Amino acid sequence: VKGYLQQIKANARLNVFNEVFEQEALVSAKAVDARIKSGTAGRLAGMVIAIKDNICYKDHKVTASSRILEDFTSIYSSTIVERLLAEDAIIIGRCNCDEFAMGAANENSFFGAVKNFADETRVSGGSSGGSAVAVQAGMCHAAIGTDTGGSVRQPASFCGVVGFKPTYGRISRHGIISYASSFDQVGTLTKSVDDAALLFEIMAGADEFDGTLSQRPVPKADAHTKDSGKKKIAYLQEALSSPGVDADVKNTLINSIEKLRAEGHAVKAISFEYLEYLVPAYYILAMAEASSNLARYDGVHYGYRSPNATDLTSTYKLSRSEGFGKEVKRRIMLGTFVLSAGYYDAYYAKAQKVRRLIKEQTNKILQEYDFLLTPTAPEPAFPIGKKEKDPVVTYLYDIFTVQASLAGLPAISLPTGNNSKGLPLGLQLLGKGFAEEELLNFSEYFL
Ligand code: GLN
Repeated sequence: VKGYLQQIKANARLNVFNEVFEQEALVSAKAVDARIKSGTAGRLAGMVIAIKDNICYKDHKVTASSRILEDFTSIYSSTIVERLLAEDAIIIGRCNCDEFAMGAANENSFFGAVKNFADETRVSGGSSGGSAVAVQAGMCHAAIGTDTGGSVRQPASFCGVVGFKPTYGRISRHGIISYASSFDQVGTLTKSVDDAALLFEIMAGADEFDGTLSQRPVPKADAHTKDSGKKKIAYLQEALSSPGVDADVKNTLINSIEKLRAEGHAVKAISFEYLEYLVPAYYILAMAEASSNLARYDGVHYGYRSPNATDLTSTYKLSRSEGFGKEVKRRIMLGTFVLSAGYYDAYYAKAQKVRRLIKEQTNKILQEYDFLLTPTAPEPAFPIGKKEKDPVVTYLYDIFTVQASLAGLPAISLPTGNNSKGLPLGLQLLGKGFAEEELLNFSEYFL
């Protein structure tokens, strides 16, 4: 714990933590140490973990990096925090992220951008940017993030770490601040796939507080091992033909394909017929769900209340206008628009149908192939401030990650080395629903 605290202090300029639980982590470390000595410690004893600041931890602040929750303290713990603590993990702090997890660069945080440890002029990726840099810069052993449309995988790829999002319905969302509930899923940022497998086992599985959870048995981390069987792997040919994909990203994909083939795996190019609909379908649905989820921040129940409010209407209006950031407001307005009476069928209902087609088509591909291999993001980490002005440019950045989110499938971003500027590159492996064990075992191949 002391070592990590030192690293956090030495690199405070990266803006990774919204709060460090310094004293508390030191006290927990002593308690865990005593349990290790008496032989009663849990399976995560000594594992120092950072959590994204949209995960509730009793009696600790949780802000979702928003002004509207700046002074909010959680009165209960999320199921995942309880499960981590029950196994003697030590939670070292809460990490900066995009406001309400809306973003792909961590530039939408009320507390400012997180800087990439590989190049401090560049973004960390998002929305779990703080969690990714915390692991990248050695400020903790592992970090927990949330992934709605790529928020664990994309920052993992920008920071050269492993980012794993399990199947939708595997990990309880109880105590996770909602963004888009039919997509939100907890994920891990780690240096190894082993750690991802262990944290996944501890956090996953049925929970009476989340009715969307699967009752299926959770894969055992002890069974995690490198899979050296021969696989059938599809890759998206558009990832290599599209001018929007960076040359280094294409090269890392080509190198992996060649290596896989040389080792006897069957790797084939495919085209995904709904490729151009992935980002629009995701954003229509995510914004619709967000506008509904964020209606609870009304200046009355909890969170920020405008001091200028004089009656109920001005309490709503001013508290929300002053409490939410620009991107969050944009999404609430667009979400409300696509759900409104005159446009519901044209946008929301249509996007639901498209989601169904995307799901079916993706599952069809996975009947023929074991995995789908794509870049995680079209480019490595970009300079801070470069894309901020045009939200649509940033939305299009999610092209490779939202497919797994729309289909509810497990996917992992694996680091595949750095480009000539020292910027990390990553590839994404997408697997069959609830086949995390198969996905994690084959992921070892890339490390
Ligand atoms: N970039 C995507 C968005 O802004 C994904 C974010 C996430 O997964 N939380 O919606």
